[in-house]
Amino acid sequence: MSIQPDIPTETDVVVVGGGVIGTSIGYFLTTETDLDVTLLERDAIAAGSTGDSSAIIRHHYGDRERYTRMARWSHEFYRRFETEVGEPIAYEETPRVVFAEEGTEDAEYADSGHDILSEHEIPVQKLDSGEAHERFPMLRYEDADFAVSDETAAYSDGTDVAAGFARAMADRGATVITGTTVEGFAIEDDRIIGVDTDDTTVDCDRAIVAAGPWTPRLMDEIGVDLPLVSEREQVIILDPPRTVETEQLPTTGLPGGYYMRPEFGEGVLVATHHSGEEVNPDTYDNQPDEETLLHLHETVASHVPELENAGIRGSYCGVYASTPDHDFIIDECGPDGCYVACGFSGHGFKNAPAVGQFVTDLVTDADSMLVDPEHFSLSRFADTEDGNGDQIKY
Ligand SMILES: Cc1cc2nc3c(=O)[nH]c(=O)nc-3n(C[C@H](O)[C@H](O)[C@H](O)COP(=O)(O)OP(=O)(O)OC[C@H]3O[C@@H](n4cnc5c(N)ncnc54)[C@H](O)[C@@H]3O)c2cc1C
Repeated sequence: MSIQPDIPTETDVVVVGGGVIGTSIGYFLTTETDLDVTLLERDAIAAGSTGDSSAIIRHHYGDRERYTRMARWSHEFYRRFETEVGEPIAYEETPRVVFAEEGTEDAEYADSGHDILSEHEIPVQKLDSGEAHERFPMLRYEDADFAVSDETAAYSDGTDVAAGFARAMADRGATVITGTTVEGFAIEDDRIIGVDTDDTTVDCDRAIVAAGPWTPRLMDEIGVDLPLVSEREQVIILDPPRTVETEQLPTTGLPGGYYMRPEFGEGVLVATHHSGEEVNPDTYDNQPDEETLLHLHETVASHVPELENAGIRGSYCGVYASTPDHDFIIDECGPDGCYVACGFSGHGFKNAPAVGQFVTDLVTDADSMLVDPEHFSLSRFADTEDGNGDQIKY
């Protein structure tokens, strides 16, 4: 059994939040700088959205090349996670396929993603409807003219990754404290000088707030307004008959904004994506409602008839922390020395390593080739509440 260290009275940098984002930031700060790092988590590691994540890693983001670049960098990191971080994680490679009808918005999205993946030499295939049927015989997409397969997409496990990052940073000299709530910040001359917890104050000159859907609440205390909403997403795990080879199924989108992926050879995960149902992250109902559950099941069965009689092995709900434009917020804001990393909606898992590296670059004033800082700045909302405008739809 590991023993929790004492909360230090001082440190160089406090990371608030032990989800995949906070632990990744903590890991990169610990391994790439000489800073003394303390991570404070109010509950357990991965207790927030991270523990509910479907943890899909894909590169196809339509024409949004910046996301392809970040996802690719992160995926390469995930592939070497065990050797580099020193912790095993669950990991399965499985293609992610987009089906589309010619002449539609979906077709534009599918084609532009195909072209970007090709340019970046990320394995991708365009299949006509016959080829798609041959490749994925269990799937029925009667209206689709073609499919684009992001061949080396994968999925993993949010808890494995966050816990792995947390253990690795602690092994390399950082302090990781769970069960401690950050309640506010000590500020002097418009600079962070400490973080107040429910227990004590930790003196520091930098604080990085990666508290997922709870980030706005903390930042509001110091006059920083973050345009974030919490959306409830519903997830079911189907338990198919033994004869169904679920590992033959790709990850794919379904009508209604749903998606599915195989579940480590033991079922099929089906979930909502950007449901639009705003909730309080402390009090939302963790059980899917009957109507959505039925609809998810029916929608899958209409595209994978072999799943019609699948039972339900489990179900739960989680929360997306979403900005109006669905782009992340990663920025220094508020008093000097204060940074936020939030608003990852349904895309934080696959990009967490790139975000950890980027925040480390931001804190150390290093040039970052990885992420476009303007695109993720809070100031994009200064003149328009739409920020960057278009939302990531898929
Ligand atoms: C159902 C679902 C499916 C998803 N599927 C995918 C996917 O397939 N691929 C993908 O890339 N992304 C996916 N995501 C999104 C991804 O999981 C999130 O973007 C990511 O986990 C966000 O991590 P985070 O660290 O920012 O937040 P969180 O995991 O929510 O972590 C925030 C942490 O801060 C702690 N905290 C809050 N307030 C305080 C405080 N005052 N003091 C101390 N600690 C505090 C919380 O307890 C929590 O542990 C999914 C999300 C959900 C909900």
